[in-house]
Amino acid sequence: GEFRLLDFDRLSVLGSGNGGTVHKVSHRRTSALYALKIIHRGHPGAADEVEVVRRVDSPHIVRCHSVLPTASGDSALLLELMDGGSLDSLVGGVFPEAALAEVAAQALSGLAYLRSRRVVHRDMKPANLLVSRDGHVKIGDFGIAEVVSRAGKYRAAYEGTAAYMSPERFDTERSRDGGEEDRVDPYAADVWGLGVIVLELLMGRYPLLPAGQKLTWAALMCAICFGELPAIPDGLASRELRGFVAACLQKDHRKRASVADLLAHPFVAARDVAASRRALCQVIEQRCR
Ligand code: ADP
Repeated sequence: GEFRLLDFDRLSVLGSGNGGTVHKVSHRRTSALYALKIIHRGHPGAADEVEVVRRVDSPHIVRCHSVLPTASGDSALLLELMDGGSLDSLVGGVFPEAALAEVAAQALSGLAYLRSRRVVHRDMKPANLLVSRDGHVKIGDFGIAEVVSRAGKYRAAYEGTAAYMSPERFDTERSRDGGEEDRVDPYAADVWGLGVIVLELLMGRYPLLPAGQKLTWAALMCAICFGELPAIPDGLASRELRGFVAACLQKDHRKRASVADLLAHPFVAARDVAASRRALCQVIEQRCR
């Protein structure tokens, strides 16, 4: 059916970022709950975000039911409400490995779908993975996502959070449209981002700089492009989990695992699906209480 903005009551603010504010809203007639994200017209990338959300439709992506015009000329995305919020609020607590495997598996399914639609997300970070209390993990926020052209060309620019940027994305000269052999696989950046997310949830803090160090652009660039991966404390992770993270956080994008490789990785493929789902629900439930 057709939705209009005036059919909704704003209940609370769910979050805000660069693009605008996200409200929890209720549809007056049906009482159904949604998340409403206002995207300011003047914001760079506003048109791209609308284009991408119209292009994608998958159980692993936060669903956009409608794009509504506002009185001031902005756009409002009527999104499926994810009642567990985003994964950034779960950083710092205990995150059992089974629950991590479930996050990784579902995020990878989302990335595999995006790839089939030739979409690069480019802003994979805990705040952009949304969860529901029944254990679904979905990719959201297409604020700087991009559709890769048939020729494989895409925009290369410093955008997104430097903390989650892959090494090759710091090298814009090359990633733009250099020669054939120089060309960067645009999808590899999202795999890197997923690796940082998994490691961050495991370690309970941003993992690529020592605890307490300020996340300045220069410190991040050095750590990401040239630094060693942090040592995961003994006993904190299985061999499979260590291998998975190392495959995602391979600095050379040509050697980095692909989404398809990772879906077949034992950390994900050999997990007990029911137990992992339960473990994830428990983590979400504990936070929501
Ligand atoms: P921005 O592009 O401004 O970063 P996001 O789309 O990332 O905006 O949303 C900001 C925050 O709002 C998210 O981190 C999340 O906490 C909350 N949020 C966004 N979309 C939803 C949703 N569909 N359901 C529940 N919370 C959401």
